[in-house]
Amino acid sequence: MQLSEILSSLGIQKENHGTSTGAQWIASQGEQLHSYSPVDGKEIGSFRTTDSAAYEAVIQKATEAFEVWRMWPAPKRGDVVRQIADALRKHKDPLGRLVSYEMGKSLQEGWGEVQEMIDIADFAVGLSRQLYGLTMHSERPMHRMYEQWHPLGIVGVISAFNFPVAVWSWNAFIAWVCGDVCVWKPSEKTSLCALACFHIIGEVLINAGAPEGINGLVCGGAEVGKWLSEDTRVPLLSATGSTRMGKAVGAAVGQRLGKSLLELGGNNAIIISEHADLNMALIGCVFGAVGTAGQRCTTTRRIIIHENVFETFKEKLVHAYSQLVIGDPLLETTHVGPLIDQDAVQHYMKALTEIKAEGGKAVVEGGVLSGSGFESGCYVKPCIYEVENRFKIVQHETFAPILYLMKYSKLEEAIAMQNDVPQGLSSALFTLNMREAESFLSHQGSDCGIANINIGTSGAEIGGAFGGEKETGGGRESGSDAWKAYMRRQTNTMNWGATLPLAQGIKFHV
Ligand code: NAD
Repeated sequence: MQLSEILSSLGIQKENHGTSTGAQWIASQGEQLHSYSPVDGKEIGSFRTTDSAAYEAVIQKATEAFEVWRMWPAPKRGDVVRQIADALRKHKDPLGRLVSYEMGKSLQEGWGEVQEMIDIADFAVGLSRQLYGLTMHSERPMHRMYEQWHPLGIVGVISAFNFPVAVWSWNAFIAWVCGDVCVWKPSEKTSLCALACFHIIGEVLINAGAPEGINGLVCGGAEVGKWLSEDTRVPLLSATGSTRMGKAVGAAVGQRLGKSLLELGGNNAIIISEHADLNMALIGCVFGAVGTAGQRCTTTRRIIIHENVFETFKEKLVHAYSQLVIGDPLLETTHVGPLIDQDAVQHYMKALTEIKAEGGKAVVEGGVLSGSGFESGCYVKPCIYEVENRFKIVQHETFAPILYLMKYSKLEEAIAMQNDVPQGLSSALFTLNMREAESFLSHQGSDCGIANINIGTSGAEIGGAFGGEKETGGGRESGSDAWKAYMRRQTNTMNWGATLPLAQGIKFHV
């Protein structure tokens, strides 16, 4: 498929609006931003950022839409999401290709991201019939006590460049079945993917008769994100991105006592025990470290290896890294594509300098690639360094394919190292020893939101609640009971008797 065909099948033109109510595009006087592919450095198209008047129009429509949408029965809302999933199935190929071309991840991962949207839509459809509350036994006679879950209103969604479409769907599809309406601010680096989603599902929403405004889009950088953070008409803001961004958003939303759901940076480790199946561990480590060119929140950044297998496993890693094909992510033979832009390359280079300054030893050297096929200047070599966990650079998430190796002798020591970073997203232990596995998963084990045995840190399924602790922000999205974050709980007590007994046996006579 030619790029021009992909873009036209997704409704993307050379110049595009960047603001929508879901049913119509809104003109704005905002800046014209250009999107360049990190694959070949070429311009894909441009879009107009949202100005304050266009922002107001979107919020106004969302406010009106909520009044109507919340009255739709939840299974009927679920049926709209089912139709969205069908439309995504039809557009999986071109949308996956655009994700790969605009963001730089492999085509398999681009398609995988769209599949994740379809999966979460299917999950949301089932959920639309299961928004259960509990019934409690009252301590008073002839009283019924129970809880209900009600929608919140407008859910703002701020997303990062590395998952240009899936993260929005995790939020929006669940929020919609819960009866909320959404306003999305995608990353300014991958906004064309967002526009494509709006073209794909706009018609579905119109044909289904969904109120205009349940699906708002505002485009731009941090400033537009700040409008959402400070807006008291947005009761919940779900923000995915760096810890730096999360601290700013969390403070702004907290200031107005709104709710925030934060999905921030990770610094994920895999522990390789002396009882591990090293061949299985190798796949988990290499995919985790170099997949998406190290630009996943769940990327494996640290490997903590038992001293008895350290040298053997290091050799296996070096051999695997020598086989990696770096290049055009749209080619099926490629393992590693580009970083998102040249700023990311600068961060990678700065990290390499800092690793060496702190005493890190190169196992596989890094560097920037140039020449034919690498003209965008965004291609870097996946690299490996032997380090100590206390190094400042090791404590920090560098969003690039840099892998750190460390040695341990006792499992407790390895778990302490794995936990001794500010972030707490994903973690893993490779072992065939049952006591080690249970110990890692116990309350004395990993302190992360995700802890795996014989699976790497990267690539979660939508059925579980996704998110992490500490500087990762504490939010949970996607499966399990993560839907509760998108609703407000109401406790109801109904007295169907003829007297008014008070709780705790208190007597009050008038
Ligand atoms: P980023 O923080 O630079 O930007 C993320 C989003 O926040 C963008 O839409 C950006 O415009 C917006 N933003 C930035 N500053 C803001 C502010 N002050 N107020 C409001 N909005 C603001 O992150 P990025 O470079 O796009 O993405 C990479 C980061 O995202 C990594 O740290 C990665 O670990 C993290 N991430 C986390 C998860 C997760 O689920 N935990 C998932 C994907 C990415």
